[in-house]
Amino acid sequence: MTQHEIIFLGTGGGRFTTITQKRRTAGIRIINGESLNLHLDPGPGALVYSISGGLDPQKLNAVFVSHCHPDHYTDAEVLIEAMTRGMTKKRGVLVASKSVLNGNSVCEPSISKYHQQMPEQLVEAVPNLKFNVANMMISVAEARHTDPDAVGFRFATKDYGDFAYTSDTEYFENIGKYYAGVRLLMLCVMRPAGKPWKGHMTTEDAIKIIEATRPEQAVLTHLGMQMIFQGPTKEAKLVEERTGVPTVAALDGMRIIFGEKIEVTNAKTKQGLDKFF
Ligand SMILES: [Zn+2]
Ligand SMILES: [Zn+2]
Repeated sequence: MTQHEIIFLGTGGGRFTTITQKRRTAGIRIINGESLNLHLDPGPGALVYSISGGLDPQKLNAVFVSHCHPDHYTDAEVLIEAMTRGMTKKRGVLVASKSVLNGNSVCEPSISKYHQQMPEQLVEAVPNLKFNVANMMISVAEARHTDPDAVGFRFATKDYGDFAYTSDTEYFENIGKYYAGVRLLMLCVMRPAGKPWKGHMTTEDAIKIIEATRPEQAVLTHLGMQMIFQGPTKEAKLVEERTGVPTVAALDGMRIIFGEKIEVTNAKTKQGLDKFF
């Protein structure tokens, strides 16, 4: 029985958080012993903060990219280079939305064909697709966002149930069905309560999704500038009060151990962060 470790290398989202680096935009690393080393949504900083955080990118065996926005894909190619021993060995799996692989009406392909052919396995992530990566069954969830091909991911572990990541999406009826029964739900909450923006999630939308799915633990991440100014911890408290579901706002460097228990270790202080990185 092995637990998963989830490391928030970045917790920022959206253009202004990205260009100011008010929060890092390096994405999330998910590790399961020697069998899985996955980078989810490697935005700007993913390579550099992986290395400075002691998470060797050459150990990766999976790169997941949920959609074609820069805060989710920019470092994907260099991580593929790390994963494939500098493009000398076919290794690992690349999982990415249709838009990221082929482009669509709003974007060009985000990863070159040269990089797409180096992983051992290439998965085009479309809603409701299921596939296996290292002992986990992954289901692709629908997202409704300004990239029409954006997707979320649900990870079913062998021993300890499921965790999931919504990616950028607005609330829609039945979004809950993709995440029903997950123990840990990570939501990309760009905006605070009262500041709706089409295609994106506010704290109120997060509350609706959490109420529909009742996870053991919820995490607000991918925080936009208005969310950061509003105070993500306050917003997480609001979610917790309204839903009764334990909820935290992610901080750069936060780690979650996902095993029999779900343990959140928040790097609370600047000092703590410096220590981590
Ligand atoms: Zn985003
Ligand atoms: Zn986006």
